[in-house]
Amino acid sequence: MIFLNFILKITLICLLIIVTGLVFGEDTRHPNKKSVLLVIDVQNCFIEEGSLAVSGGRSLVPFINHLLLEYRPYFEEVIFTKDYHPRDHVSFASQHFNKSAFQKIKIKYDENEQTLWPDHCIENTQDSEFPSDLNFDANKDVVFKKATNKDIDSYSVFMDNGHISKTNLDEMLKSKQIKKIFMVGIATDYCVKNSAIDAKDLGNLLF
Ligand SMILES: [Zn+2]
Repeated sequence: MIFLNFILKITLICLLIIVTGLVFGEDTRHPNKKSVLLVIDVQNCFIEEGSLAVSGGRSLVPFINHLLLEYRPYFEEVIFTKDYHPRDHVSFASQHFNKSAFQKIKIKYDENEQTLWPDHCIENTQDSEFPSDLNFDANKDVVFKKATNKDIDSYSVFMDNGHISKTNLDEMLKSKQIKKIFMVGIATDYCVKNSAIDAKDLGNLLF
């Protein structure tokens, strides 16, 4: 009798799970093969001792590693973005006469003012590379470089700051019918924020 009771309880629990699934459908917050993970700008330049260090940047690395360890197989793709500038990039204070880092200037393409930064994340330097302890897999993961045009800055991975030209990321995601994007990265108030706004505007579900 005790055994039958146990079977009944298990059956009821299974039914409850099935009914819950039917009523609420798939949990949209869960990654699947129609979703990607965007790891945004987790580079040496943005972590402690980098050229434009963000406080606490390094502490994100073990968190992302754990995330990748647990969830990488569930995603269609994991895309690592890089802020990747030529040496004479317009966002560098060093390129403007009598200007210093963190001052703002008016630039024709941007209705807001461009913040000037110290030289950072310069292409083909160690500073622009991923931290050596980041669990990036060159055989599986995609690298996506942004802000490579010297004349315009790009916080978002989807388009430049003037919203003049899109990168090909949106097209790439749409060609794979990906609509769900999970994001993690540096820095929340610039590149992650602007990428999130653009991703949503382009019709994606965002987590
Ligand atoms: Zn930059």
